[in-house]
Amino acid sequence: MPASQDHSYPEIRESVRRLCAQFPGSYWQALDRDRIYPKEFVQALTREGFLSVLIPEEYGGSGLGLGAATAVLEEIHRSGCNGGACHAQMYTMGTLLKHGSAAQKAKYLPKIAAGDLALQAFGVTEPNSGTDTTRITTFARRDGDRYIVNGQKIWISRAEYSDLMVLLVRTTPREQAAKPSDGMSVLLVDMRAAIGKGLTIRPIRTMLNHATTELFFDDLAVPAENLIGEQDKGFRYILDGMNAERILIASECIGDGRFFIDRASAYAAERQVFGAAIGRNQGVQFPIARAYVQVSAAAAMVDNAAALFDSGKPCGTEANMAKMLASEASWYAADMCLQTHGGFGFAEEYDIERKFRETRLYQVAPISTNLILSHVATHVLGLPKSF
Ligand SMILES: Cc1cc2nc3c(=O)[nH]c(=O)nc-3n(C[C@H](O)[C@H](O)[C@H](O)COP(=O)(O)OP(=O)(O)OC[C@H]3O[C@@H](n4cnc5c(N)ncnc54)[C@H](O)[C@@H]3O)c2cc1C
Repeated sequence: MPASQDHSYPEIRESVRRLCAQFPGSYWQALDRDRIYPKEFVQALTREGFLSVLIPEEYGGSGLGLGAATAVLEEIHRSGCNGGACHAQMYTMGTLLKHGSAAQKAKYLPKIAAGDLALQAFGVTEPNSGTDTTRITTFARRDGDRYIVNGQKIWISRAEYSDLMVLLVRTTPREQAAKPSDGMSVLLVDMRAAIGKGLTIRPIRTMLNHATTELFFDDLAVPAENLIGEQDKGFRYILDGMNAERILIASECIGDGRFFIDRASAYAAERQVFGAAIGRNQGVQFPIARAYVQVSAAAAMVDNAAALFDSGKPCGTEANMAKMLASEASWYAADMCLQTHGGFGFAEEYDIERKFRETRLYQVAPISTNLILSHVATHVLGLPKSF
């Protein structure tokens, strides 16, 4: 892909690419087979400061905006690596930076920036509420200077490899709250203190190497000082994290899309069938060109959403639209790339089938396409809600 696409943060992009070159396809293939967490990759990113780009300089981070973070994740994915092992450290920041107290920031941010603490877990989804977050039932009861948490979460990724978790709980039952989105709170859970003392983590094996888990809370005590912001107002704080998450995931999709386009273009130019490069056939080159057009358009949406986020303007709709278009563009590019490679696309050593599985996730998580369409239909176009 032409260098003009690498418009923003060229130095960050170049350093990320250099780091990723040390983690080739063979590294990821070996981990993927046994669903092993890419510890060395995450350590290298942490050491180089890429996971603390959003942490203000006074706490030891780079103090950059979401635009810089999207450049980091896009390049990770374009290089064939996977940011899923650590991207939450960036988006959970949206909640902690904007709504954490000065004492909480002073306690945790320098250690996170230095790599001494990992904040990689974001606990929202529950088995019985699904996307309808206001129906979560994991409950934190105030008991003196602590909260006692009971309930269950599902699909909580990286919980086994994180020291801290941003956890959404109910503190007032839905039926007693003034509106459904009231009565929820955000707790910062110290996983090291919690495991075995009220928190049980059960890994779930999935079609991709994503270290996702199920969590069970059984009278887990969390110090009241770990409440982020005000009690019962947590949904609003989580939304800030979610907008960041959608924009960052969208940038991973852009990186995936560019990976597939790079690989397909190279292979189509080189693979000789019927005495000529397969890429000479328009039936092969047009899908690659179409993927390029779609990824470029989605990338502009991601840049726009990140710029709105960084300027503190509302960006919920733009974050959603960017995530939807980017996840569809990367999936189209994945399918195109597999087809361009013919049988070889299915061989593990080409990395296409692995990236194909990895990029499919993003039409479901962190928010599924239907829910984005519903948001646009009802919040932007004023159509009646179906639920
Ligand atoms: C690998 C993986 C990692 C994840 N990591 C995390 C994590 O770290 N933290 C976390 O909190 N969550 C995580 N999730 C959860 C993820 O955010 C949810 O799976 C996702 O939001 C969809 O929710 P659900 O699975 O409950 O689907 P459901 O809400 O059950 O929906 C199922 C399907 O029905 C559709 N649907 C539902 N309601 C409607 C409607 N009213 N109109 C039209 N269509 C509808 C949806 O679009 C979807 O396609 C992860 C999930 C996966 C698979």
